[in-house]
Amino acid sequence: MHKSLRIAAATAACALAGGVLYGAGAATAGQSTANSTHEPYNIGLLVKDIDTYYGTTADSDGVYQASPASPYAKDLARIDAAARRYIAKAARKAHHHGEKPAVVFDIDDTLLLSLDYEKRYNYTYNPTTWSDYVNRADRPAVFGSPELVRYAESKGVEVFYNSGLSEAQRAGAVENLKKVGVDINLDTGHMFLKDKANPPAYLSDCAAPGAWNCTTVQYKAGTREHIEDDLGYDVIANFGDQYSDLDGGHADRTYKLPNPTYFVS
Ligand SMILES: [Mg+2]
Repeated sequence: MHKSLRIAAATAACALAGGVLYGAGAATAGQSTANSTHEPYNIGLLVKDIDTYYGTTADSDGVYQASPASPYAKDLARIDAAARRYIAKAARKAHHHGEKPAVVFDIDDTLLLSLDYEKRYNYTYNPTTWSDYVNRADRPAVFGSPELVRYAESKGVEVFYNSGLSEAQRAGAVENLKKVGVDINLDTGHMFLKDKANPPAYLSDCAAPGAWNCTTVQYKAGTREHIEDDLGYDVIANFGDQYSDLDGGHADRTYKLPNPTYFVS
C-alpha cells in the first residue's frame, strides 16, 4: 500500500451513507470518495460494526482472526462464485480466439488479510510496524482467495500479482503466499512490486530511478498495461480491495473486495 496516501478507517469511514456501488463484482456498498458534509459516523460504533462484519475474535495467541461464518466471509463467497463463473467463460472464449487470458490480483487484503494489524493498531498506519508485520509472513488468507487463484490457473489463465508492497517486502510476501496455499507464479516475472529506486521503463511517465512520482492508479494501471501490451496477455479480471487497485483500465472486469479498515487513494 502507498504509505503517504493511506487513510485509516478512523478518518475515512465517515461516509457510510451515500456510498456508491462500484465495480462489476461489488457485493457490498463500498465507497470510493469521502463525504464530510454531515456529522461523521460515530467512531466507537464504527469499530464495533467492523468487528461484527469480520466476526473478529482473538485466538489463543491473541491474534485477531476473522470468522469464516461472518458477513465479510459471505460477501467474499458471493464475489468468488460470480468471479469463477465469469473466469470459466472468459477463459474459454479467449482460448477459442487464440488469446492469452490473465488475471491480476492485488495482495494486501485481497489475498492476505491484515485484520490483526489493523485492529491491533486501531486502524492507523506506521511504515515500521507495517513492514515488521508483513515480513513476519504470518497473515491468514482472505477467505477463498487461494482457491480462486488456483481455479484461474486450472482454467489456463495466467496469474499475475500487482501490489504496492516494496521490493524489500518481496521475500515475506512470497513466503506468506506459499504458506496459505497460493503457490502459483511467485516469480519476479509475475509478481510486480513497487521498486521506487529502480522503476521499470514502462512506468517512465511517472517514475525515473530515484524519482518516484506515480500515483497508485498510475502504478497499478501502468503495470496492467505492461502485462497486456508488452507481455501479450488479455487481462480478463482484476481483483483488489481498493478502488485504486481497479481504476485506470486494462482489465475486462474488476472485482472490488470488501475492506472497511483503510482507504488507499
Ligand atoms: Mg490491497
